[in-house]
Amino acid sequence: MSSIVEKVPLIRLNDGNYIPIIGFGTFCVDENVVRIAIDAGYRHFDCADFYQNEDVIGTALRKAINEGKVKREDLFITSKVWPTWLGKGRPLKSAQRSLKNLGFDYLDLLLIHWPTPLKQVDNDFLPRDQNDKCLLDESIKLIDVWKEFEEIKSAGLTRSIGVSNFNPEQIDDLIKNSSTVPAVNQVESHPFISNSKLLKWLRERGIEMTAYSPLASAGMEWNKSTLSPLEVPLIKNLAIKYGVTPAAICIKWQIQRGVTAIPKSSTKDRIYSNIDIFDFRMTDEEISSIEDLNRDLK
Ligand code: NAP
Repeated sequence: MSSIVEKVPLIRLNDGNYIPIIGFGTFCVDENVVRIAIDAGYRHFDCADFYQNEDVIGTALRKAINEGKVKREDLFITSKVWPTWLGKGRPLKSAQRSLKNLGFDYLDLLLIHWPTPLKQVDNDFLPRDQNDKCLLDESIKLIDVWKEFEEIKSAGLTRSIGVSNFNPEQIDDLIKNSSTVPAVNQVESHPFISNSKLLKWLRERGIEMTAYSPLASAGMEWNKSTLSPLEVPLIKNLAIKYGVTPAAICIKWQIQRGVTAIPKSSTKDRIYSNIDIFDFRMTDEEISSIEDLNRDLK
């Protein structure tokens, strides 16, 4: 019987690199959780400078390498540059800091975290004015940031570059004015936000869509009052039919439509069950019926 690691398909990106179709979300996770994720079979880790835990994630990954559980080349490590770090020369500094914190000498994927450059005020991640409005920095053009990303890639600090939370217009601007099509656009997607139109648009341009919050951040403190897709009868019934969890249905739906998904969990049995989804396949009708739950929520 093949192991989970062998079952996780790799998707070929438009630059020739490969990304495992399931990744592990690392927002608010600790070292022990990452070690469990490695044992469960995750090899793709979605990190970010903003999460302020890249040192902890790096420690766990490097321990797994030292223990002979994985090799660096088996891992796919993403990091992201936060909007206060998009000014001239700053994306490079952010990437270098992420690498230092993680303790590796290259990333697999570096993303522009949000297409909304913010002013740099001290080390504030969300600088605000007196009226509590975010301080945007309109002097920074995304195309200039993207050209710096191209240089970071050429310098070997990352194998692939991409974007997150970008709309087609913003991506078009990068495509038309540079020589690199983003490899990935990482956006929020779950049954209530299918992002199907965006997916089609990205696919036509060879850009891989990654679904963040594929479980709609179920149960997270700031999101407890929102209806969870895991509670929807259609999802629950499919879970019963296939003998899996509702979360597994949401993740498998993304995978069956060719979307990379990066669920997060700090609970051991969920970490295992969220990746153990390769022994069943939903019908085309079932995939479409999940698509119909879309409400374009934001
Ligand atoms: P998520 O993966 O949609 O959901 C995580 C929540 O679901 C946690 O509360 C977790 O609880 C719960 N959960 C996990 N597995 C479950 C299961 N099998 N059954 C029931 N509940 C389950 O949310 P997310 O953390 O917002 O997104 C995932 C990752 O996407 C992040 O960690 C981050 O890497 C990335 N992200 C990127 C951006 C961006 O702007 N690019 C934005 C947000 C997130 P427990 O942990 O208690 O198990």
